[in-house]
Amino acid sequence: YIVVERVCKSFGPHLVLRDVTTQFCTGEVSVIIGASGSGKSTLLRAINRLEPHDSGSITIGGVPVSSNEATLQRQRIDVGMVFQHFNLFGHLTVLDNLTLAPRRVHRTPRAQAEEQAMALLRRVGLHEHGGKYPWQLSGGQQQRVAIARALAMQPKVMLFDEPTSALDPEMVQEVLDVMRELAHAGMAMVVVTHEMGFAREVADRVLFFDQGRIAHEAPPAEFFGQPASERIRAFIGRLD
Ligand code: ATP
Ligand code: MG
Repeated sequence: YIVVERVCKSFGPHLVLRDVTTQFCTGEVSVIIGASGSGKSTLLRAINRLEPHDSGSITIGGVPVSSNEATLQRQRIDVGMVFQHFNLFGHLTVLDNLTLAPRRVHRTPRAQAEEQAMALLRRVGLHEHGGKYPWQLSGGQQQRVAIARALAMQPKVMLFDEPTSALDPEMVQEVLDVMRELAHAGMAMVVVTHEMGFAREVADRVLFFDQGRIAHEAPPAEFFGQPASERIRAFIGRLD
């Protein structure tokens, strides 16, 4: 569904993505791991056009990611994104965080948008918190709201950039549980994470980023069972 071909990206003299080629298919869960600074976030941001790439091509459902406003808006609807720092609208209630974009972009009537939002909040276990503001919630709850908010646009694929790494340890599991259920429901997901348990259990494939390249890619059983290089073995060892 998302096709990345020979994508390069530099910041000044620093080459951050070097000829990245891969595909993310419908219904598939891909987990991206790799050292800090290896380009994982930059790839997700390039897919969402938060950061334009320099060369190569990225297509979403066959359409190149574009700076054309209408196309870009369509693509941002289809590709939901969840960040490390939840990025909720602090001045809006949980319910309003979920209904804002559907009402503005999809022109969904308020009552219908709220009904959908409540269903999503139920799905992430927060149906009793719709009237609260983000600052009244724990980090794990805020991240679950952020996931629900992304789902409210009915995306075709969800990108997650280290969704649990800003959370206290006791809140990591509740967020991973929501993501696991999403995966089991068939959502296509691209997840940058250091949670190796999640990768082992949920991923269809694991991609290892190294210095702006996809150095290795394999199904989790193979990726973790027979590490392809000493470097990967050492990397996994540090995280486990
Ligand atoms: P981490 O695991 O720490 O999140 P990452 O793999 O996500 O790392 P990126 O955030 O993609 O890494 O960054 C790759 C490189 O690009 C880093 O060297 C970073 O300093 C650099 N970089 C990222 N964004 C910018 C920017 N806006 N301007 C300049 N350099 C940047
Ligand atoms: Mg990053």
